Amino acid sequence: MTAISPRTLKNIATLDARAQAAFTQFAQLAAGEAAKHGCEYHMIAGNRSWAEQDALYARFRTAPGSRVTNARGGYSNHNFGIAGDFGVFKGKVYLDESDPRLAERVHRACAAHALDCGLDWGGHWESFQDAPHYEMHTVLSLKQKRARFEQKGSVL
Ligand SMILES: [Zn+2]
Repeated sequence: MTAISPRTLKNIATLDARAQAAFTQFAQLAAGEAAKHGCEYHMIAGNRSWAEQDALYARFRTAPGSRVTNARGGYSNHNFGIAGDFGVFKGKVYLDESDPRLAERVHRACAAHALDCGLDWGGHWESFQDAPHYEMHTVLSLKQKRARFEQKGSVL
């Protein structure tokens, strides 16, 4: 069985306690799936504070850089500790940048395990497809999540 990388474990630890189990299960399956393609699948981002989200949102709009998100602080599932982004690597090489076609294949293969772990995949979104992104499947709207998070510190 392919081991979950330290980088992935560190990012999983930033998540809501109940999301950690789902992401751990997924990371295990995805690590094995990526290995079949001769690659590694690392979780590269987990929880983000609302201020960090605002800084990302500013990129491309009011600050330099390319557009990476359509969500302001409090409008991303990363702000509730229930979302994570994964990258495809070969050693230190980040294939999402250097070989996007291979990265896409690996994302797709790994994403096939997402639903079984209770996760939705950003590659299925209709606008702004986000292949690195996974989040806990819930029936709540973003507005409901924000309200619950502010009330009890967790949406789950
Ligand atoms: Zn994301």
